[in-house]
Amino acid sequence: MATEVRRSIEEPERVGKLWEAMERGRANRAATIEKAGLDLPAFRDRVRSIKETAAQDPTIAEAFAEAVRTNGGRVFFAATGREAVQYLLDVCRANGAEFLVKSKSLTSEEIELNQGLAAEGIRAIETDLGELLCQVAGEKPSHLVFPAIHMTSDRIARMLTEAYGEPIAPEPSSILSAVRARLRPQFLDAKVGVTGANIGVAETGSIVVETNEGNGRLVTSVPRVHVALIGLEKIVRRWEDAADLVRGHAISATGQRMTVYVSLLSRRLPVGGDPADREFHVVILDNGRTRMRADPSFRDALNCIRCGACMNVCPTYGVTGGHVFGHIYPGPIGIPWTAKVHGLEEASFAHLCVSCGLCHEICPVDIDIPWMIAKVKEQDVEVHGQPTAERFFMASEAFAKVACLAAPLANGFLRTGPARILMERILGVDRRRTLPPFARRTLRSRVRNRRATEGRVGKVAFFPDLYAEYNNPDLGLKAIEILERLGYAVLIPNVRWSGMPYVSYGQLGKASALAAVNLRVLGPLVDQGYDIVSTEPTAVYMLRKVYPKLVEGDLATTVGTHSYGFFEFIERGIAGLPLRPSRDVAGVVGFHIPCHDRALSSGAPAMRFLERASYRVRVVETGTCCGIAGTFGMKSGWLGYELSMAVGEKLFEQFRQSGCDLVATESSVCTLQLGDGLGRTILHPLDLVRLEGTG
Ligand code: SF4
Ligand code: SF4
Repeated sequence: MATEVRRSIEEPERVGKLWEAMERGRANRAATIEKAGLDLPAFRDRVRSIKETAAQDPTIAEAFAEAVRTNGGRVFFAATGREAVQYLLDVCRANGAEFLVKSKSLTSEEIELNQGLAAEGIRAIETDLGELLCQVAGEKPSHLVFPAIHMTSDRIARMLTEAYGEPIAPEPSSILSAVRARLRPQFLDAKVGVTGANIGVAETGSIVVETNEGNGRLVTSVPRVHVALIGLEKIVRRWEDAADLVRGHAISATGQRMTVYVSLLSRRLPVGGDPADREFHVVILDNGRTRMRADPSFRDALNCIRCGACMNVCPTYGVTGGHVFGHIYPGPIGIPWTAKVHGLEEASFAHLCVSCGLCHEICPVDIDIPWMIAKVKEQDVEVHGQPTAERFFMASEAFAKVACLAAPLANGFLRTGPARILMERILGVDRRRTLPPFARRTLRSRVRNRRATEGRVGKVAFFPDLYAEYNNPDLGLKAIEILERLGYAVLIPNVRWSGMPYVSYGQLGKASALAAVNLRVLGPLVDQGYDIVSTEPTAVYMLRKVYPKLVEGDLATTVGTHSYGFFEFIERGIAGLPLRPSRDVAGVVGFHIPCHDRALSSGAPAMRFLERASYRVRVVETGTCCGIAGTFGMKSGWLGYELSMAVGEKLFEQFRQSGCDLVATESSVCTLQLGDGLGRTILHPLDLVRLEGTG
């Protein structure tokens, strides 16, 4: 894996192209959602409920099969990919076909149809441009929607020139003309056409095939035999469900209002000759889907509409591409899908996931992909063991406690080159990564003797997490001071850290145990009217989004709904605060939104806080992670620091170009990444403000 990651990073042209395509995909999608005036949360709920019903109700596939037969079609239920391939082979042999033409090939990739046919002397000819290019190159698709997203037009032209034996220029029009001229006779000569299907509709036994190139219509209509291969989770009961999915596919996959060709196929119509002579087959594929349906941890993966939006936001996919970050199904959703359909051994690319959570945020079906990935990692580390660096970072709390007790010594040690080399060799902590120094006195020890204030407005339990407790107690003190000035009584509860590394590194048992400990402390406080507030976005993300999955019952949900980011919480009373800037306000503050804050408040309250203190604030972003992803970017090697900095490079460049005078972010680890990438001081918004009447 490390070698493949290294190779990916060392191909800047390919990475640049992939990154641009992802940005375009996100921008088009966002623009269409806005233009269409789509109520995204409502639409998400609707698509999710359609897919949940489709994926969980086995009677729908039966009803669909019955309706296809009534229409004169033939249906085969394939329990495995091998059975599906055998059925296709039998159809080809029965029709004397030496080759077949294909469109919408993703599901056939899953069952490795081309290889199965080739072993028996039958050629499969891809006709979707992206798939065709992958076939010519002898490569797997690297994206669910744009299989050849990783290829430059120069490379495509060179490849086709060699394959077709004629010069082809790298302009899209030349490439398309050459491909079209090659494909036309093959459509006409083919006896069998094979397509996937986006949707099956049980009430009429119809399939829906959505394409943007038009070739799908030739594959389904010209050959005498059409075989549609459809996963059983794609079959819905009614047309109104199908209509919503068609809309969802277009908007989320390509940012179109509607896919260019939406073909609704119910029966084969005569094209001259005897209509009975034209065959329509549907292969309904299980291949692990029933197993997935029975597993509560992975069932959600069946709700995927294959839009690819999760890939367009995934930071490490953006650098490594789908050949490294994928097996047959690439990208974030490819991880659980691969683990369940192709087996855990093929899903080791799960460790490229840095738990940023962005794929969940963008998914139009609200699939909790990061949670399923954590489950895959959990199973994988059980089998293959845990790397030393990951074990070290999961012990961060214990390390921080000891380091704080001997802070001058520990800080001196962490600054010395030989010590860092030793740490890298023994613990796998990259020597180049700046680590935050430890404070001589923890936040708790500094507030121990403070006089408690009366809570005029309410009560707050301040959750410091590691950074404000052990590294930067001044930050915690400032936050507490502001809360008290706003009229809150503040205490620091006897909690431990929030424990994100346990989730990131697949130790969900330990994560659950830690969450239970913290909830036992926080639950009673919430009952007494306390709200939980933290300056660390990841801590709030854990409390609000992750603990309810780690610990069953209402307690975690109750605590989660009373947990807030610091700036989000103080917004209500901020008008009364005498905020003053602590730096020159003539310049612009470039603001970085941490990933876990995107799921909470998108950094907006922190930016408004700075604006109230007279700063001009500008978001500087790539739309994805800065790359450090908690402790991922502290690990040494290509599966840590190198990949982390390669992800971050786009953001660093944007900051360099932004001309911003100051750089701010709320997250302690994003601070390290930006500091290392930009070589300048990164500030917390609280560093930029002072309260009038204080020093
Ligand atoms: S998991 Fe969600 S975002 Fe990813 S391809 Fe499936 S539906 Fe689209
Ligand atoms: S959580 Fe982040 S890194 Fe992991 S798969 Fe999703 S987008 Fe990629």
